[in-house]
Amino acid sequence: MSASPAPAHDAPETKTVTSRRIACDGGEGALGHPRVWLTIPHDSGWVDCPYCDARYVLAEGAQDAH
Ligand SMILES: [Zn+2]
Repeated sequence: MSASPAPAHDAPETKTVTSRRIACDGGEGALGHPRVWLTIPHDSGWVDCPYCDARYVLAEGAQDAH
């Protein structure tokens, strides 16, 4: 049984990451875009790339980089 809520819009990809600072370039091919740096906010725990809509979710137990 799936309890996942329906996304507000079509998110092509959800990626779990272990750092709040991540770079996205959309990958290879048609989805590619200039590399941007994104920071996952503390309160939400995730961020969407403004270019390709990839969602980066901070893994549970991930450490803050000090
Ligand atoms: Zn992207």
